[in-house]
Amino acid sequence: VLAQHRGDADGALADYIPELASVDPDRFGAALVSVHGRLYTAGDASTPFTIQSISKPFVYALALAEHGLEGVARHVGFEPSGEPFNAISLDPESGRPENPMINAGAIVTSALVSGSGPDERFERIRAFLSVCAGRELDVDEDVWHSESVTGHRNRALANLALAAGVMTRSVDDACEVYFRQCAIRVTATDLAIMAGTLADGGVNPCTGVAVLDEEITRHVLSIMLSCGMYDESGEWAVRVGLPAKSGVGGGIAAVRPGQFGIGIYSPRLDEKGNSVRGVAALRSLAADYDIHLLSQPRVPRSPIVHSSVEGDRWTVVLRGEIDFISAEEIIAHIVGHHDDPDRRDAELWLDTAGVTRVWPEALRALTAVVARLRESGRTVAITDPSGTFGRDR
Ligand code: GLU
Repeated sequence: VLAQHRGDADGALADYIPELASVDPDRFGAALVSVHGRLYTAGDASTPFTIQSISKPFVYALALAEHGLEGVARHVGFEPSGEPFNAISLDPESGRPENPMINAGAIVTSALVSGSGPDERFERIRAFLSVCAGRELDVDEDVWHSESVTGHRNRALANLALAAGVMTRSVDDACEVYFRQCAIRVTATDLAIMAGTLADGGVNPCTGVAVLDEEITRHVLSIMLSCGMYDESGEWAVRVGLPAKSGVGGGIAAVRPGQFGIGIYSPRLDEKGNSVRGVAALRSLAADYDIHLLSQPRVPRSPIVHSSVEGDRWTVVLRGEIDFISAEEIIAHIVGHHDDPDRRDAELWLDTAGVTRVWPEALRALTAVVARLRESGRTVAITDPSGTFGRDR
């Protein structure tokens, strides 16, 4: 994929933060981490660059972990703004920034992170992003200072949020931490691992460290899907269909929940602020490999490996992950054959040794059906050596 797009020199380096214009424009690298923790890299996957806006979903996650969804929602909303990243965009009624992926929302979110002063708050952010990346990340001091002396528009946004009553710190304090968080240095490999952490339900797939709980991970991914690619988020959802976040440093992190995380770096940006070759590469991947989140699963998997009657025992052997649709199939099978002449008087044995996970909604439905069968007089035994079926997931 990189070879296919390497020759594309369209776009321009971001220069509104002067120091960003000093990077090598030709660098192009990508990395993918599977949820099994295996890393694949190509091109300049270990070239450092500043994370910029890709810090936003992770700092949002940190704020959610500290304050909960409702606590954060009092300060920043969930709606795609459809406007550029630096838009003066506050909800006219609540005064909240529309979402945490635009600058106004990200500055307010960053200010929600606890700590007694800017240094302590920044350190919490840096440490958190480092655990997501699986290594200690540092800051590009030049980029930080460059944005600090030129970031008047972001200060204006912070002032508006302060005036609207949704900002919890002084403007200078909030902006310094935000500028510094944007100047954290990463590589495409780091971004892949950070995205992989979101793909694996909040567990860093390379270190095994549980960083976030699954629910927070889901909140963050939802916002990334609707708002992560600036005012191109709608088209991105159609063409690529992965929760993603880009930054004006040239990085993109994309997540295929349950499967992999991708990090891409190429610093020339389109007019929306997204990496030109990064977007092109992810579009190619999506077109060639059908990685869209909403793609129809093609292979109908039956959770029932085997169902037979021997003597007075009816054995149903189950396997794999039992989600809603698998539970529906199991229930239809059992209930549908409940009155077959050869099964009517048999004991039902559900063998779940091959089941890897049962989703809560599936467990509820199956438990209710088993209870009803028992009430109707049938003996139902569940062999559950690993306890998978007994737990609520
Ligand atoms: N530090 C940058 C800014 O606030 C981040 C913008 C971005 O990456 O979209 O302007």
